[in-house]
Amino acid sequence: MNGATYRAYHFFWRGLDLLFPPACGGCGQPGARWCARCDAKAKRLAPPWCPSCGMPSPGGEICSRCREHPPALQAFRSWAFFDGPVRNALHRIKYRRDIALADALTLQMLKTYRAHLAWQVDAVLPVPLSRQRLQERGYNQAALFALPLALALGTSYRPAALRRVRHTRSQVDLSWEQRQENVAGAFIAAPDDVSGKTILLVDDVITTGATLNACASALRSAGARTVYAFSVARTPLRSAAP
Ligand SMILES: [Zn+2]
Ligand SMILES: [Zn+2]
Repeated sequence: MNGATYRAYHFFWRGLDLLFPPACGGCGQPGARWCARCDAKAKRLAPPWCPSCGMPSPGGEICSRCREHPPALQAFRSWAFFDGPVRNALHRIKYRRDIALADALTLQMLKTYRAHLAWQVDAVLPVPLSRQRLQERGYNQAALFALPLALALGTSYRPAALRRVRHTRSQVDLSWEQRQENVAGAFIAAPDDVSGKTILLVDDVITTGATLNACASALRSAGARTVYAFSVARTPLRSAAP
């Protein structure tokens, strides 16, 4: 895969927008999938940040949470905080399968990726849903970002390399510790796909990083060399607190 494939993917959705003018996924105004006003309102994450979790950190110091509980990932980053128009857009992608909106947000994610992350990765994987959740929803919203990111980075897209083997309860009202326990051992990775490789995991929202940690542990057990993660959004810390 190469950049031309991604351009074709992107222009396909842009072409549809010319035929059927869209409404903005952030505010509902007609005109663009993701309007300039919502883009200006998105609270982007940028340096200085914790080198591990990518949360704001004065002076770029490793944060106290990562010092206390070192993540199983090399590093994880997000494009913007899960708030306002970003939250609206992700809700629409998660429940209404708005692939063109996901493509519009992927373009914004790529700006952060290219400006601040110089990760050389061998494969891109969406954080998988359980079979039960996949059947309920019909698709994995993380894949709507992982595929165009893989295309844009010219990297192999391996959605089947990691599987969720245990259905886990919703984590919305769980504390940090409970989340770690809830997802521990919930994933399994295929050594043939990941052994010796540098992996980029992609998700829509990162809250505490518990799910990513469980994914990274499974990938490392299957021989992955390094695991990074990149999400569209990050829950601000206060709402993730127990
Ligand atoms: Zn808007
Ligand atoms: Zn940190």
